[in-house]
Amino acid sequence: MVKELEAAGYSKPEKVDKAMEKSVDQRLKDILDINTNTFNRARDVIGQTVSDAIEASLTPQELTKELKKNLFDMYQLRVNNASTIARTESAVISNGARHTLMDSAGVEYREWLSAHDDKVRDEHAEEDGHIVGMNEVFPVTHLRFPGDPEGKPELVINCRCVELLAKGPEGEE
Ligand SMILES: [Zn+2]
Repeated sequence: MVKELEAAGYSKPEKVDKAMEKSVDQRLKDILDINTNTFNRARDVIGQTVSDAIEASLTPQELTKELKKNLFDMYQLRVNNASTIARTESAVISNGARHTLMDSAGVEYREWLSAHDDKVRDEHAEEDGHIVGMNEVFPVTHLRFPGDPEGKPELVINCRCVELLAKGPEGEE
């Protein structure tokens, strides 16, 4: 990103590390929430399993077996989601840092670029090529940038889009 900015004539932003740090910090806070959710979910699973067991008059051995199975199912779901989470998180963090860097370098306009294949979701294919000001949101998704952590999950998860430096709104270059 820094080379891109310099090539476009912007001076090197001073706080490159700070921008990255800020994005990571924010995401770590969000991820801690995910862990809390996992913990709460486990507690719910245990509570539900125990109350079902009491109703069904299960023996402690049977209860243990049920708990093992239900908790395993729950964590298995989480593990299966790990690559989606990794992909999404890295996009959120790197796009967030990119955005902060562009902003601190004084970039005025940026353009949405999708991955241009058939996996790109419709809203992002539509957003491709749109140019907006630094403090505007993109018109279709209402995201500040691809992977906007404040955006709806269905518009952020697995996103591979990036924002590029742009000269100005279409027709105004
Ligand atoms: Zn996308």
